[in-house]
Parts: sequence; C-alpha cells; structure tokens
Amino acid sequence: MTQREEGPDVGRLERRLGKCMYELATESRLVRAGLKDTSEMSAIIERYADLYEPEVVRFAEQAYRSAADTDACERRRRLYLALLDFAMERPIAALRDALAERLLRRFVEVDGESINYYALQPRIAKEPDADKRDRLFDALGHAQAEANPARQEILATTLSELCRFGYPDYVGYCSEVKQLDYNRFAENLRPLDQLTSETYFRSYGALVERTTGRQWPGLRQCHGWYVSSLSQHDAAFTPDRLIESAWATLRDLGIDPDALTNIHIDAEDRDKKNPRASCYDADAPREVHLLVRPRGGWSDYSSFFHELGHALHFGLTSPRLPFAYRRLAVSNGLTETYAYLFQSLVRNDGWMTDYLGIAPDIAQEVGRQAWLLDLALLRRYLGKIKYELQLYQDPLNANRNSSAYVSILGQITGFSYPAEAYMDDVDPWLYVADYLRAWFGEAQLNGYLTSHYGNRWYKDPQAGRLLRELWRSGVKMDAEAMLSELGCRPFDIGPLAQRYEGL
Ligand SMILES: [Zn+2]
Repeated sequence: MTQREEGPDVGRLERRLGKCMYELATESRLVRAGLKDTSEMSAIIERYADLYEPEVVRFAEQAYRSAADTDACERRRRLYLALLDFAMERPIAALRDALAERLLRRFVEVDGESINYYALQPRIAKEPDADKRDRLFDALGHAQAEANPARQEILATTLSELCRFGYPDYVGYCSEVKQLDYNRFAENLRPLDQLTSETYFRSYGALVERTTGRQWPGLRQCHGWYVSSLSQHDAAFTPDRLIESAWATLRDLGIDPDALTNIHIDAEDRDKKNPRASCYDADAPREVHLLVRPRGGWSDYSSFFHELGHALHFGLTSPRLPFAYRRLAVSNGLTETYAYLFQSLVRNDGWMTDYLGIAPDIAQEVGRQAWLLDLALLRRYLGKIKYELQLYQDPLNANRNSSAYVSILGQITGFSYPAEAYMDDVDPWLYVADYLRAWFGEAQLNGYLTSHYGNRWYKDPQAGRLLRELWRSGVKMDAEAMLSELGCRPFDIGPLAQRYEGL
C-alpha cells in the first residue's frame, strides 16, 4: 500500500539507497574488523552515481515539497536529504579515502618502537609511564600537523559543495537537516559549565593528580587519556566476563540474547582488527553487526556496552516500519541516548556488584571515578561545541581556529590542548551536538527507569518491555520526542547537572 501511495520512483530510490547504504556499512565494517586492507568507500559511492544526479535530487526535493500529508512529507524529506548528502559526499569521499589510506601507512618511531597513527591514542591511554606518554603525544602531534592540509582541503571542498546546492552556511545546513537551532542549543548549555565546575576542578582534579603523579590543571591532554582508561581497576573487568555479563543483563531484562540472530557478533581476535568495539547498522533490523575484541579493562567494557545499546536499538527496530523510519535518522541523538544508557551500567555500582561480583565498597569507588570521567568528557564536549560553532564562522582561517581550539578547550577542561589537533578533533556535521543531546537524553531516560523500576531497573523485565517498545519505533522520533512521550522536558539541564553533585 505504501509503495502505491509513494509512486514507483520514490520506492525505487529508497530501495537503491538502502542497497548503497548496505554496501558502505559493509565496506567500513570489513576494514575495521581487519578483514580488508583498504577502504574503498568512494568506489561504492561512484557505483551508485545514478542516485544523486542533479535531476534525481531535484525530483526527490519536489516529491518532498509536494507530499500530500505530513507523514509522507517527513519520509520524503529524509530521502531528499540523504540523496543530497551523497551528492555532496561524492568529491569528498575520495579525499577522505586518500587521507585514511595515508594515515594507515603512517608510522611514527618512539623509543625504537614503530607505531601506526591510528594506534597512537589507544596506546597513550594505556601507557603508565608519564614521560613516555609525552613522547608518544609529540609524535602524534607531528603526524596531525602533516595531515592538516588534507583536512583543510576536505573542509574547503565540503563548503563549496554546500554552496553549489544552495546552502552557503555550514551551521545553517546542519540546522535544517537535524532540525536544531545550534545557537539556542549552545546558549541552553551555558549554565552547565558553572554548575559542574567546582566538582570537576576539585574531585576530578584530585583523581588526575593521584593517577598521574603530576600537578593539574595545565597538564597536556594525553595524560587525561590515561586517566580515562581507569587502568587502576582493570583487574576487576576481565575479558572473559565481557559478553557474558551483557547477556546476563539482557536475560534479566527479559530479552533473550540467543533470539537476536539478526545481531551478528564478531568477537574474533584478529591482528588488524580495531580494538575498540563498534556497531554497524547494515540494514536495520534485518542485519546489524557488533564488533568487539575483548581485551578486558574498564574502558573495554564501557565501549562495548555503548555499542551494545546501538545494536539493540537497531536490531529491535520493527521490520514493518517504512524505510525512512528504519534507516534515515534526523539526528543520531536518539541512538546515542540508548548507547549512553547501556554504557552507564558500567558506572553503576549495583550493576558491577550484581554482574561482575565486585565488592560493594570498591564498586562504589569505581562508579564515582567513572562518573567523574563522564563529567570530564561532558565538559570537553561543552568546549567542543563552543569551538566548532566558532570554527564555522571563518572555517578556513587556520591561525584563528587553532588558537580558538587551544584556548576554549584548555579553559573548560583544564588540560593543555595541542594546536595541531584543531582539525582532527572535529566530527563532521556537528555530531558533537548529537552526543550532547544524548547526554541530556540518557540522564532523563535513566531517571525515568530508576523512578519507575528502582535503582536496579536493569533487572526488571518491565523496564525491558518499555525499552523494547521504544526501540520498535526505530529512528522515527528524535531523542527529545521520545523523552516528551515519557513526560520528560527536553533539553532540561537539571537531571544532567544533578548527576555530578556530591562526587
Ligand atoms: Zn555511539
């Protein structure tokens, strides 16, 4: 029935777009899993060139603007924007592939050891010797500086593509696509800095000084990465319990992990596999992939549970939803909210005691430290959004932007940030705001679950039923619409700020 209403062309475009997205997700997954050496995303985008010829994009736009009802209008709007995104991505994808390829081959020498560019940050995060961290960080800075001209070319090409399609303003384009007023959003965030500042500089500062043996603020950012790995508690988070503890949690929520045959788990240990867990929504809910390389340690658990949240959301989406509501999210704030919710279990002392057998007093201290890390990351993101909104006011002005990066991030985090990272530390299309929306979203959703099902909501099948119900609607709603349905006030900073009180 839907096909008939949409007309044959819109249906055909959706099917072809779905195939293209499937191939891109598969390509990216194979590279990350260590099953393929080079990424050829641009070749796939070229193969589907018929999808985003100017007249096809125009047709999709007309179909959206002339849609008879609001629901069809919304679905066609998403289709149009996805095709537009591909059209703009075409010249950029080749540049991105070339840079990724170069960095894959870029090795630095530190103390006689040869380390790949992509392995540097995880390596620094696990390096107990502070002086060595500094040397590794210097090497990373050199490699980042070398890559900056290529990153500038990618940004310049993006800006000219935006202009070509009638969007001269980067932030304005993101606003239209993700339906968010970024300046108002940033304004609303402003009190969070003040509200969390004292706890941050007192308690997180003490954690940094104790873990690194150095004075803070003013330490270089690389030492913060080491603190974030929470390595001092690694022994309590063994690799063999990682997947088992997740499956036990799902069973307690009334979700049978063995029935989730559409969520493919790749837990194999391969040399070239990226150690950080990841999730690929190849074709939700029919095919979802969860990649993990269990190494143990708190940060391994934290990233695995984050990706598990994504996998459950995509894997338990209703197959009966129209394509746009299964595959074409307006923003990623919603799926990140579910990812943050599951990640928060690894900061929950009750959960650590129940599933990992950690003694309650130790679990409480691990939880406290883990929440301080979350606060540190939140403050970094408050700095990032402020910086990125400034960046796009004069995007190609390298001197201005690198010094804004160092000063804004330095001030809010207390760490000394390297100027060379001012391009590398930016995710495209203001994804920084999607994460921040999830910070709000998770604090509210977690608060809702706790008030309805208690502190141990993760053991209540009724909480599981509610989550399944939410996941069924795929990406139809954004995080704020989902929260409104639960009676929460979107963008309310209260529940988030309360999180960190008394730490
Ligand atoms: Zn995520």
